[in-house]
Amino acid sequence: MKICKFPRKSKLQVYKAYTEKQNKAHAKKFAGVPCDKRVVFAPHCMRNTAVCAAEERAGHYVCTECGGCKIKSISELVKKLGYEGLYVLKGGRAIMQLIKERKPKAMVGIACFFEGEQAFKILEEYDVAVQFVPLTKDGCSGTDTDLAEVEKVLLQK
Ligand code: SF4
Repeated sequence: MKICKFPRKSKLQVYKAYTEKQNKAHAKKFAGVPCDKRVVFAPHCMRNTAVCAAEERAGHYVCTECGGCKIKSISELVKKLGYEGLYVLKGGRAIMQLIKERKPKAMVGIACFFEGEQAFKILEEYDVAVQFVPLTKDGCSGTDTDLAEVEKVLLQK
């Protein structure tokens, strides 16, 4: 006799559930951190590489707000709110490097669900409140996120 089973959750569903749970767990602490102790990490795959005028550093780029992609709007809001900085990461390894260098108390991470899940795990042993905003389109280039969602998270107090 065939036994009926519930369908297994896809990996995406697992990452989504995990990151949502972590966001909730970190939300109160995040809201209590002043903006000048918060950093924002965005992925390099959101850049429009055809026109991008970002300044390159060892593990990240600094957006110069050329207007080629949505990171310009994020950069403007980050500055307006007085955040410590916006870092356009070349890869996940840059997270640790920047956390050690900049010593933020809170971090907003824009990334795909997989990277978001990894970041929460990597930062478990650090005293950093994390809020994750997922990409709405992932991939190696031409990725996207919901600016309204980013703004909502950045404004959390
Ligand atoms: S807005 Fe910033 S990150 Fe986007 S393409 Fe221009 S310099 Fe690069």
